Amino acid sequence: MKKAVFPGSFDPLTLGHVDIIKRAVPLFDEIIIAVGVNATKKYMFSLEERMAFIADTFKDEIKVKVDKYDTLTVDYCQSKEADFILRGLRNPADFEFEKAIAQTNRKLSGIETVFLLTSAETSFISSSIIRDIIRNGGDVSALVPKSVSFKK
Ligand code: ADP
Repeated sequence: MKKAVFPGSFDPLTLGHVDIIKRAVPLFDEIIIAVGVNATKKYMFSLEERMAFIADTFKDEIKVKVDKYDTLTVDYCQSKEADFILRGLRNPADFEFEKAIAQTNRKLSGIETVFLLTSAETSFISSSIIRDIIRNGGDVSALVPKSVSFKK
């Protein structure tokens, strides 16, 4: 069984994440979207909200599961018996950052990271820009799935 973990903050889930997940569905038997809990990070959305946005968006996709984790990513993958980590690449900065992490993870555990290149239509979307727009009262409905809701 080909099982992948897609780790991330998903603060919040964007159409860029959705694109990567939908395109990964045919490649794996199961994809666990693992929402990170990092005590030193400040999030805009609570863990429950971040998980609910994902669960609602993929409620009809049986291969996609949602979970949380607060350990080393490779330890989490091993606890789930997942052999692959899924990540998206948008630009050279993503590549440089992801390369070191993927090589370290493979050295630590043998787990392979599978990268999908962003689609042209969603390559500019990032959770951090979306948070800025929300903070300033803007409309993000063209950038996030319908399940992402918040009070203005
Ligand atoms: P993290 O804090 O781990 O970077 P994010 O939620 O920001 O968590 O991103 C999770 C993953 O989704 C990363 O691999 C990131 O490169 C990818 N990603 C984010 N936005 C996009 C996008 N617009 N297109 C493709 N991949 C994306």
